[in-house]
Order: sequence, then structure tokens, then C-alpha cells
Amino acid sequence: MAKPVADWQSNKEAVQATNDDASASKLSCVKKGYIKDDYVHLFVRRPVRRSPIINRGYFARWAAFRKLLNQFLDTEVGEKGELRKQILSLGAGFDTTYFQLQDEGTAPYLYVELDFKEVTRKKATIIETCSQMRDKISATASISRERGEVLSDHYKLLPVDLRDIHQLNEVIALAGMDPSLPTFIIAECVLIYIDPKSSREIVGWASNTFSTAIFFLYEQILPDDAFGEQMIRNLESRGCALLGIHDTPTLEAKEGLFLDRGWQRAVAWDMLKVYSTFVDTQERRRIERLELFDEFEEWHMMQASQLFLCVVK
Ligand code: SAH
Repeated sequence: MAKPVADWQSNKEAVQATNDDASASKLSCVKKGYIKDDYVHLFVRRPVRRSPIINRGYFARWAAFRKLLNQFLDTEVGEKGELRKQILSLGAGFDTTYFQLQDEGTAPYLYVELDFKEVTRKKATIIETCSQMRDKISATASISRERGEVLSDHYKLLPVDLRDIHQLNEVIALAGMDPSLPTFIIAECVLIYIDPKSSREIVGWASNTFSTAIFFLYEQILPDDAFGEQMIRNLESRGCALLGIHDTPTLEAKEGLFLDRGWQRAVAWDMLKVYSTFVDTQERRRIERLELFDEFEEWHMMQASQLFLCVVK
């Protein structure tokens, strides 16, 4: 029987499944020695081995993101000593950055993660049942698997549909976010699955809500070249349309999306440039020795289609 038309548009379950893919890819990188993440294995039922090009791509994304985040966390403290900072991760999926930062001793005052309830429920269950994670949040934390919530002193996980700005305001208030504190907002492979109108609203909301903020965006661009067309076909066949890609298909268009909505400075690079000029040379040398790699042409196309954007206000 032919699939109903709606299946070819972005659907919730298929988009949530991209989170499972991301976790499996991160675990593949961990096993090969590209990155360190002592928690991601808890979220992967069936580990898979990814190809060197996928491993290298994930490494580049992780290394660049962590470098930017560490710069935010490292910046000067206020005159009176400690400066409170907060991180807001939109569509956080099973990302474990908070727990890694805890181990590194650099976790911020507040780390808030949002996702659909189906995802936060699974994450809350793992956090509650795996002592390795449970021990990293305060003993007094309240965890509800049913509601998909974790409320601890410095870490909060809450369910929301990001397209509902009213609900977004409610959850960040519930999480105790302070709009006047320096805030690092993460949207990694999330807004691209959301319709352009809602994405614009989220970008505008973030700029109106937080007085000092950095917005980090990572997602696909360039839908119209041969590589982009194939990438879109692959994702659509799984039911995940990249709903945002045609509205802002280039580096400049993505910058414009933010600059038009109250953000002051935007720098968009593709991942080729990020890999060769932002990721530390030593780290690059280290990982380039991990696996035999000869897919240079595909690597160039793939990395050119990935956007790394940092916006500040
Ligand atoms: N940021 C994570 C996960 C990416 S997968 C990472 O990079 O590893 C995309 C995530 O966005 C999924 O977990 C999906 O459930 C979430 N998501 C997509 N649209 C959403 C929406 N409208 N509201 C809340 N979460 C959403």
C-alpha cells in the first residue's frame, strides 16, 4: 500500500529517531577513540560501527562545539568572584554534555534541557536508574518518569514542544532560568526539522528573552547541489523532512535569520572551514591517525553541507 502523504513530511517519531542515530554515532566515535563520553553508551541499545567519514564528521562537530562552549564557560568571572552562567539546550535529545562538564569540573550554575516528552521520559528513566548519572545530580533531585522531568539544583530536564512559545516561557520559568544571566543556547540538528515560521519565532523569542546570550546552531544547508538533494531524499524516505532548509539554504541566509530578529552579530561557517581553522591542530592530527581514510571527495561535500553558526547579543 502506498504511504500516506503525511509520512513524507516531517513526523514526530521519525525526528525523534534522529536522536537515536546521533547517540549511536557518538558511541561509535567513543569506541574508536575520537571523543570521550562516559555516558552515551547508556542510551544506545544496539551499538553500531560507523564509517570513518561519519566518525570524523561527528568528531568535528563535537570538538568545535566543545571549544565554543568552553570559551563561554571560561570567560572572566565578575568582580565579586563567581559569575553565574546558564545553558539552554533546545531539542537536547540524549546529549550528555552536562554530565561531562560535571566530570570536568566546569558545569555552569544551571543547565536546562528541553525536548518532546517521549524523549525526556526515556532520558529521565535512564538518569534515575543508572547510578553513574544519578550520582551527578543533587541527592534531593525530583525525577518523574511519567512527566519526563528531572528537577535538580543545577540540572533540569523538561518536556516541551518548542513550537509553542507560551509553553516555552512556562518551562524556562519552571526551570528557574534568569533572563539576565549570560546564557548559551544550543540548537544542534533541531530547528531544521521545524517549520520556518516556528523557527523564526524561536530565534526571536530567544533574543527577546535573554539579555546576554550566545546562540549556537548546527544543521544542514545547501539543499540544491547533488549532495544536498541526496541528503534530503535519504531523510525524507525515513519521514524526516528538513522543513527549514529551503527557507534559509545558505550561510548568509542563516545569518540573516538571526540578524533580522534582534541578534547583533552572527558568524556562519561551513564545517570544512571549522575543521581546518577552528578545531585544534593537535586534536586533528591525533584523530586523523585513528582510521584509514580515503573518502576525501565525499568528505568535502558532506562538510560543506553542514553549518556551524554562532550568534551573540
Ligand atoms: N541535539 C541533540 C539531538 C538531535 S536530534 C544532538 O545533537 O545530539 C533532534 C532532537 O530534537 C530530537 O530529540 C527531537 O525530539 C527534538 N525536537 C525536534 N522538534 C522538536 C520540537 N518541536 N519540540 C521539542 N523537541 C523537538
